[in-house]
Amino acid sequence: MKKHHLRIPGPTEVPERVLRAMQAPMINHRGEEFTSLFKKVSEDIKKVFQTKNDVLIFPSAGTGMMEAAIANLFSPGDLIVSFSCGVFGDRFADIAEAFGAKVERIKVEWGKPITCDIVRERILQDTKKEIKGVLFTHNETSTGVLNDIKGLREAMGDHPALVIVDAISSLGAVELNTDEWQIDVVVAGSQKALMIPPGLGLVSVSERAWKAAEESKMPKYYWDFKKAKKSLEKGETPYTPAVSQIFALDESLKLIFEEGLENIIKRHKLLAKALREGLKSLGFRLFAEDSWASPTVTAVDVSDFQGKINFSKALKNRFNITVAGGQEKLKGKIIRIGHVGYVDELDILNVLCAIEMTLGDEELFGKGVKAAEKVFNEGLEV
Ligand SMILES: *Cc1c(COP(=O)(O)O)cnc(C)c1O
Repeated sequence: MKKHHLRIPGPTEVPERVLRAMQAPMINHRGEEFTSLFKKVSEDIKKVFQTKNDVLIFPSAGTGMMEAAIANLFSPGDLIVSFSCGVFGDRFADIAEAFGAKVERIKVEWGKPITCDIVRERILQDTKKEIKGVLFTHNETSTGVLNDIKGLREAMGDHPALVIVDAISSLGAVELNTDEWQIDVVVAGSQKALMIPPGLGLVSVSERAWKAAEESKMPKYYWDFKKAKKSLEKGETPYTPAVSQIFALDESLKLIFEEGLENIIKRHKLLAKALREGLKSLGFRLFAEDSWASPTVTAVDVSDFQGKINFSKALKNRFNITVAGGQEKLKGKIIRIGHVGYVDELDILNVLCAIEMTLGDEELFGKGVKAAEKVFNEGLEV
């Protein structure tokens, strides 16, 4: 008997309280009990988005909300600039293209972040203000890179393009101040920092974005934001909501408010730092540099071990720890260790310990764990 440790960057482990909340019997989705609950969670979730904007909730994977953001705000032929540093940034551009936008792809090397300079340069060129939308990924889960959304937004100055951010693997774990940073649309999903099983998509919509929605001509039906907003006023959804997932969201929001968003953000930073210091002390190279490393997922360069140790397999077989592999061109070159949502200090020490044992060199035993313990002991200030 081996306990399972799910250390992938989503779906993430779900706290027992949330699991139990999901087991409640079904209720009428048009009845008073559901509508008052739906109104409440739709209001409470705004605190996690740090926004006063509307937040719409759909039964969906995160990608559905990326698609919804495109389909609701633009028209075929609109110029959208996608800034991408990995798989999920590329996906956002693919979606915009599939809906007939004119997409300009600006890519940076995987493992590096989007820089303010690249954004500023492209935006300044656009003297005729032809760019209608800009796509960013907050936390690029495929490479373990966190983009500086605040800085990138500032680099756009007063350019009128809508700013759309994929925050699927960051919202609820990483600082993201939607209103203060003037982000028009933030896209999130249930199965990462929100500690809920997959199945809910969430999206915040600014006043500017609502204006764009009035003019949008891209096709939409199920994803129609305007219909969703109209229903939300009555505490309803246009079609059948994922009722059990809404029970789960209500409970996870309680957990989030009990710990406090600020503390949660600090916890993720500390967990990432401890894991990184531990891995470095074992001699691993990390795929992203410290200064732009993700607080929710760490990509570890394992290319030196190709043909010798398959970490994903070894960790699974011996310890029942599941980590994620690399995607696309990073397959076999990195592993990704998720530390997002329901994760604590001992979870980090446990994965480090298992990696030390997988390396099998007794000289290294305890080294990674010790470096991480030191980080936990000292806290973030050092
Ligand atoms: C997980 C993730 C997605 C995709 O979410 P799905 O729910 O699998 O559609 C998109 N973007 C980022 C940054 C992610 O981490």
